Amino acid sequence: MIESVDTDVLVIGGGAAGTNAALKAADKGARVAVVVKGLMGKSGCSIFASHLPYHDTSTEQKGHDRLRYSVRYYNHYLTDQDYCLRMGKYMRTEFFPDLEKLGVYWRRGEDGRLMATATRTPTIVSHKQGASGVIIMDKRRRAILGRGIPVHEECAATGLLQDGGQGGGRIVGATLLDLKSGRFFAVRAKAVVLATGHSDYLATRSTGTREQSADGIAMALRAGAETANLEIQWWHISDVLEPRSWMRYHLYPNPLLGTEETSRLYNQAGEMFYEQRTHSPASSAPYVEQIRRLAREVMAGKARWDGGYWSGYDHIPAETIMAYQHQAKIWGKLGLDVGKDRIECGITMHMRQGGIDVDTQRMTTSLPGLYLAGGIGSHYLGGVGPVSYDGKVAGEAAAEEALGRPDAPLPAGAVADEEKRVFGFLQAGPAGPDAVRPIAAKLRIREIMWELGYVKNEAKLNAALDGLLQVRAEMVPRFRLESASRAWNTGWQDALDVAAMLDACEATVRSGLLRKESRGPFFRDDYPFVDNETWLCKTLLRREGGEWRSRTAPIPTPHLKPEKLREPFFDADY
Ligand SMILES: Cc1cc2nc3c(=O)[nH]c(=O)nc-3n(C[C@H](O)[C@H](O)[C@H](O)COP(=O)(O)OP(=O)(O)OC[C@H]3O[C@@H](n4cnc5c(N)ncnc54)[C@H](O)[C@@H]3O)c2cc1C
Repeated sequence: MIESVDTDVLVIGGGAAGTNAALKAADKGARVAVVVKGLMGKSGCSIFASHLPYHDTSTEQKGHDRLRYSVRYYNHYLTDQDYCLRMGKYMRTEFFPDLEKLGVYWRRGEDGRLMATATRTPTIVSHKQGASGVIIMDKRRRAILGRGIPVHEECAATGLLQDGGQGGGRIVGATLLDLKSGRFFAVRAKAVVLATGHSDYLATRSTGTREQSADGIAMALRAGAETANLEIQWWHISDVLEPRSWMRYHLYPNPLLGTEETSRLYNQAGEMFYEQRTHSPASSAPYVEQIRRLAREVMAGKARWDGGYWSGYDHIPAETIMAYQHQAKIWGKLGLDVGKDRIECGITMHMRQGGIDVDTQRMTTSLPGLYLAGGIGSHYLGGVGPVSYDGKVAGEAAAEEALGRPDAPLPAGAVADEEKRVFGFLQAGPAGPDAVRPIAAKLRIREIMWELGYVKNEAKLNAALDGLLQVRAEMVPRFRLESASRAWNTGWQDALDVAAMLDACEATVRSGLLRKESRGPFFRDDYPFVDNETWLCKTLLRREGGEWRSRTAPIPTPHLKPEKLREPFFDADY
């Protein structure tokens, strides 16, 4: 008999979305438990956040600029526009004061107003650029621990439990594997909030950290949920190239605090090819335009995807950068001078715009009892503020539902099946021709997705799909671990990660094959145009009895519409 614990609301994930969901569900009087694969408030990508959009609507122009930014530049029209307005109101009225109560410091002017950058789409930071996420998440962590909410850390949710068996019925909890001890147990919950993020380590260079293996996408797919627009995958281009362990160190291209200048990017001939203030003044997170400009440099042989171009602040007084920019310290660590030197960069696979399909009114999914919050959803790209809004909506809705429901029995058969799957990977054996270490499969998957890269087409997508199917068929059945220990067995974790990564990557590639256009960060050189006539829609995928089913669904544009029905990809600015 497998051990189980009970709660009203189970929150899976300890980033900005999960922590706010837990706090808001607890505020409603629900018993809450949190499970986090890493450490709560210190894992996932929330800690990397720097710029927090300030949704200023004090003039009609400002309101228009902000909505346009959310809809056009940040989500390429693939978002719910009414959600954008509701989320903007939350950012304007609740987000900053809520965190201030927890002790986060925001710079305020003498009139008491929050100090934002003097740009068309203003942003706020705490208190230096590049440091906001760490500070916010530390305060949220303390708030949750201080309220005595049970937290299972370094413990992974492995599967969602359904009362009708796998692939059917209501979500009534999840199975957990404590990575420290190997303890496998179930949590019985009246509602579950899935908040596992969107910056997964799925390519050789990635902003996602080790524990981010797209588990949420895989768990939801296995339970029968639909994914939407998984192919809309953002890339960073100004992340440090060397040392490799610093590939998540991001030299922000966004508007800088304390100056009207922004960072610049230079090709190998020393020519400047991108700066936000010149090339995308209306977009304070200009990543889509940045990579398009880098693509032109790569095509012209003036840069590579993995180096041969540089970023820097040497046109800005060093004192300004040192005062306001947390990242400035890395120049010193590399023996460089931020006032004179530039740092070589490479691209990294960044966060996903798509995810699991969700109804944003209450953050519900097609599976009763399952709520989503944050980057895991397909509704909005993310950001610490928006995902906190999701956490609030999902946490409150899940608590309301849970408080009105009786306990459901634990589906013993589903728990036993999941135990068999998880422990099926715990087999040690000597290295040899019949044995594959799971890390080898993990590296191969990342290599396949890296080779697929930014410039895609039918042949490359099919090659990636074949590669993934090959890993599934030929490597996974031969997995043997170095040790069968249950405690901190990283080989065992890798095997479980591979299973999730294969599901998520296969769905991503299949979703890419469906979309026959280019949009935002998604570029197909066999369809090099934005096609709003046919493809302003969701590409939806789910798996039924092992078969993939796909469909598309239009995305309404009630407030903002793209001006052109069709335009060349490199002419578009979103
Ligand atoms: C380099 C970088 C820079 C960024 N800059 C900004 C910025 O300037 N401003 C901004 O607003 N946003 C920024 N973002 C985006 C922002 O950080 C994200 O959109 C947001 O933090 C996502 O929050 P989340 O809670 O959905 O996911 P995450 O913060 O990624 O949290 C996911 C959580 O899920 C847990 N988890 C994963 N799998 C499991 C499992 N199987 N079981 C249990 N737990 C699991 C992880 O341990 C983690 O705690 C940046 C992101 C990156 C990567």
